[in-house]
Amino acid sequence: MNTVAIAIDGPSGAGKSTLARMTAKEFGYIYVDTGALYRTVGLFTLRRGVDTKDRESVAALLPEIRIEMRYAGGVQRMILNGEDVTDLIRTPEVSMAASEVSAIPAVRAFLLDTQRDMAKKYNVIMDGRDIGTVVLPDARIKIFLTASAAERARRRFRELRDRGVETDFETVLRDIELRDRNDSSRDIAPLRPAPDAVMCDTTEHDLEASFALIRRIIRERI
Ligand code: C5P
Repeated sequence: MNTVAIAIDGPSGAGKSTLARMTAKEFGYIYVDTGALYRTVGLFTLRRGVDTKDRESVAALLPEIRIEMRYAGGVQRMILNGEDVTDLIRTPEVSMAASEVSAIPAVRAFLLDTQRDMAKKYNVIMDGRDIGTVVLPDARIKIFLTASAAERARRRFRELRDRGVETDFETVLRDIELRDRNDSSRDIAPLRPAPDAVMCDTTEHDLEASFALIRRIIRERI
């Protein structure tokens, strides 16, 4: 069977995951959140007390890591060596660890097949940083979703607060700016739009308007 892939890339907090989830539901695709893979590696590294910037030590941990993605009721569960860590990988500490381990080439290589296998088996809408450029360069549709850093920090702050995570706006903004810098300046798979990506800036759009825009982009192309 020929599968169809839609890639959504962009910086943290642009609304990729919410919009990808809504889009997957609308079109009957499987939503693959690739950030969760990097978060799971980040969590494992933190638990082992290894410096997430230390390339060699992190690479040496990889043979001990087995990650499975399971889908239950449209929700992606992350299984790390048999343990469901889905609810443990959303803290600011793990976000930063994910950003750091994701700059390590061995980590990216380690996670590549898992991502490509999903796209081989299913119609997917996959979100990340390098889906349209590296993971699925032949994706049928590529969307690059952005918004200003301040607007993305406002959204992330609200989301964390609603989940009961204690933080303040300044810290969230600083984290977003730092992760943006890490993600766009790294030498491997830096965050940047594929040449054939449709650019989509949601700074001025609420969720409904952003969703309408994405739906239109997809309908025009499928
Ligand atoms: O999307 P999310 O915020 O969950 O991603 C966590 C981190 O994982 C990002 O800051 C980014 O550094 C990294 N990442 C990546 N490539 C992807 C997805 C996420 O480098 N495809």
